[in-house]
Amino acid sequence: MTDQCPHLEYRETGDGHTFDVARAFCTVTGSFVQPMRADVCNARYDLDPETDCEFYVDPGANE
Ligand code: SF4
Repeated sequence: MTDQCPHLEYRETGDGHTFDVARAFCTVTGSFVQPMRADVCNARYDLDPETDCEFYVDPGANE
């Protein structure tokens, strides 16, 4: 996989706050992504969400 993680979303609201710039949100953990991890989520620097993220789950696993 070289595309961004299918579980990555960008949200402008969350945790009771509204943000000027949408922040990376992981739908697996249900929480905003730390900047360091966002590189994995976006598959930057040859990182791969499927193998480099411990939270990653197969999108088809529950279907
Ligand atoms: S790479 Fe991991 S933390 Fe990032 S959106 Fe995907 S499952 Fe969540």
